Amino acid sequence: MSISSASEKHAFKTSIAAINADLHCHSVISDGTLTPEELAQRAFNNGVRLWSLTDHDVLGGQARARKAAENLGMNYLGGVEISITWMGQTVHIVGLGIDEQNPILSHGLIETRQGREKRAQQISDQLNQAGIPNAYQGALHFAGNPDLISRTHFARYLVEQGICSDIENVFKNYLVSGKPGYVSHRWASLEEAVHWIQSAGGKAVIAHPGRYNLNALQMDELYERFKDYGGAAIEVITGSHSPDQYISFAKVAQHYGFMASRGSDFHDPKESDVDLGMLPNLPDHLKPIWTAFH
Ligand code: AMP
Ligand code: MN
Ligand code: MN
Ligand code: MN
Repeated sequence: MSISSASEKHAFKTSIAAINADLHCHSVISDGTLTPEELAQRAFNNGVRLWSLTDHDVLGGQARARKAAENLGMNYLGGVEISITWMGQTVHIVGLGIDEQNPILSHGLIETRQGREKRAQQISDQLNQAGIPNAYQGALHFAGNPDLISRTHFARYLVEQGICSDIENVFKNYLVSGKPGYVSHRWASLEEAVHWIQSAGGKAVIAHPGRYNLNALQMDELYERFKDYGGAAIEVITGSHSPDQYISFAKVAQHYGFMASRGSDFHDPKESDVDLGMLPNLPDHLKPIWTAFH
């Protein structure tokens, strides 16, 4: 039977938009606390039927995530979240539908990770000067992958040491601009990240656009350049956005002709406010990024 009437077409569109897709989360391979297999199971149990593991700057969890998803009968898109520097600020670009074997993407990420090691030593030196010794070893203890030390691992160490009550508190008093343990770092460029993702056959998505310390003009410039380089989408529904931000970033997506993505940014059952799959659907009038994949 062909889909012919306007109302049938509408119903079809709505059902695609209403797939429970969660296209942003982290495993122990970056700064999450669950394995790719545990995440797959948790996503599936929460109703997710299209999933992507998007570890920071690393592809080491992709094969495991894909296999676990397949075993559960859940659709999977290869994913990554790349750290970039834009106008002096850190911005995150998610790549979806990527081939994790692609050498251009892999090499770009290897270089990105090498910068993390030196930065971690500098963070530790600063914390030491602030009276917090052994932070490098402490953070490393929390890192599931020594190749990927992130501020999240330092944050968990500061909580463990009783220096801060929780992770949110750490990111108010440490590891951020103007506070002990902040090391300004130069990541890849926007153009490089989009190029790596596209070289690997993926679509580039601006992660949680509501989180950046950029003014309206700078955000416009980010969207324009991202579009010029071939960027495809922005996250509209994410664990980092408030309901008001769902509305404002839906407008941004429409204005620039971006597709929209949806992802919890889940890291850990206790730390993360939003669980896998537990987000509102994308607004009906936006084109879901997953319609770009077969
Ligand atoms: P890094 O890539 O090493 O700079 O670490 C960035 C990570 O720190 C993010 O991916 C988050 O997981 C975490 N993070 C940053 N800011 C916050 C915050 N305010 N609350 C909780 N986690 C945060
Ligand atoms: Mn993270
Ligand atoms: Mn992010
Ligand atoms: Mn993330």
